[in-house]
Amino acid sequence: MKTKDLMTEAAEAKSLSKVKKIGILTSGGDSPGMNAAIRSVTRCAINAGIQVYGIQRGYQGLIEGEFIELDRYSVSDTMQRGGTMLKTARSEDFKTEAGQERAASILQTFGIDALVAIGGDGTMRGAFDLSKFNVPVICLPGTIDNDLGYTDYTIGFDTAVNTVLEAIGKIRDTSSSHERTTVIEVMGRKCGDIAVYAALAGGAEGVCVPEMPVDVNRICNKIITDGHKGRTHSVIIIAEGAPIKTTDLVDEIKRVTHKEVRQVVLSYLQRGGSPSSADRLLGTLCGAKAVEVLTDPNFDLGSYAIGEQNGKICAISLEEAVNMKRDFKEELVGLINVLSK
Ligand code: ATP
Repeated sequence: MKTKDLMTEAAEAKSLSKVKKIGILTSGGDSPGMNAAIRSVTRCAINAGIQVYGIQRGYQGLIEGEFIELDRYSVSDTMQRGGTMLKTARSEDFKTEAGQERAASILQTFGIDALVAIGGDGTMRGAFDLSKFNVPVICLPGTIDNDLGYTDYTIGFDTAVNTVLEAIGKIRDTSSSHERTTVIEVMGRKCGDIAVYAALAGGAEGVCVPEMPVDVNRICNKIITDGHKGRTHSVIIIAEGAPIKTTDLVDEIKRVTHKEVRQVVLSYLQRGGSPSSADRLLGTLCGAKAVEVLTDPNFDLGSYAIGEQNGKICAISLEEAVNMKRDFKEELVGLINVLSK
């Protein structure tokens, strides 16, 4: 679409939109690309004549009324930075009905017509609860875990996988020099996507995920066979939610193979860093879609989740989104096993 068309559309939306003032917050774990999403929502909304308030520290800041008005310059020079310029938090108060009622009343006091919430599974469940108090909420998928059923990818996942890949490369150098096996623990809560994508792209010799039983014998046999063939180092990726603890896996490999085994827990390293182009784009496109929904003259003041389905940015009902189960791609684990045979 040409710039002129976009300007005309924005002007039309300005006069027809029911939404005049929005709040925006980030909640749960931070993820690279959240700033791109905040920037996109803010600038697209301002372009459509909507006033934007940034709410600091997620739902806790909402309950405590931590609002700041954003203009288009408030979001300058933020897109390349990891983390979230609005800060984030986990809020126990918001999980209670009283907390949600207070949040709805604060939004009403500030004259906010709709809330944009960027976060993961918990954030979306919280948004759905809040929507029962007649607050329209538009959710954007901001989490490194890629654990949301309704979207192909979440904002931050790609950067996290790239961070793990960089670590695998460095660990391989030292593992091969010392002829060791290294078990790398990655994040993802109950979702094995970070582990699987990083293991595939990083050529790992094995992967353990929460969604599948762990075959320790396969991993040990592989290490022993490789040793006989002169390949004396291996990298195994384990997701934090796998059915075996990382330390137990390390001990078992040591016991069976009699080889040197080390463990590396990448932890919060995976949440930081400048977002990849994929995460900046996903954040930007989801942000623009959120404003498109809010400025649609037929907007029903309902609640929606924005995401990517089969490569297209889409908006679906929030209720449907929170109830969609994630499909785990077991075939990718099969491929890792074939490639590392
Ligand atoms: P990440 O995937 O990075 O952990 P998240 O959004 O899943 O992000 P949570 O800590 O699970 O992170 O959720 C963020 C916040 O959402 C919680 O601190 C809480 O305030 C609210 N929340 C979570 N679950 C619920 C729920 N079932 N009902 C109401 N609010 C919830």
